[in-house]
Amino acid sequence: MSTETYTGGCLCGTVKYELTGSDADIHGVTACHCEQCRRWSGHHWASLHGPKVGFSIIKGESNVRWYQSSDKAKRGFCKTCGSTLFWHGFGYPSLKDQIDVSAGSLDNSKTRVLTRHIFCENKGTYYQIKDGVPVYDRFPDS
Ligand SMILES: [Zn+2]
Ligand SMILES: [Zn+2]
Repeated sequence: MSTETYTGGCLCGTVKYELTGSDADIHGVTACHCEQCRRWSGHHWASLHGPKVGFSIIKGESNVRWYQSSDKAKRGFCKTCGSTLFWHGFGYPSLKDQIDVSAGSLDNSKTRVLTRHIFCENKGTYYQIKDGVPVYDRFPDS
């Protein structure tokens, strides 16, 4: 089992982060089509899911704003350029020790590919999902 470190950052370069974890702890990229992710990102939101213990904001932490989008989750973005960066489901027992970082903000996403589309029952009506990656109406484990 190998350990991998992913780094990424926002559009203006103020915020930089890293996410470290084992192969098993860092999951493939998920595209979430829920209404909140669509409104937040401007389309569906793609993210890499990993252990919160391996996550740190290494630069520009004071520039990160957290928006609490529900009673169970908050979303982090750069207050200067608006890049959507982080999702933390602090109110979900199975997710509170995990963090999602935006796949588009990664510097080195080459070793992780899109593995699933979730909350597709809420997807936008202006596009179709035809890439052959598994599609779930909701969260597949719920
Ligand atoms: Zn920025
Ligand atoms: Zn979502």
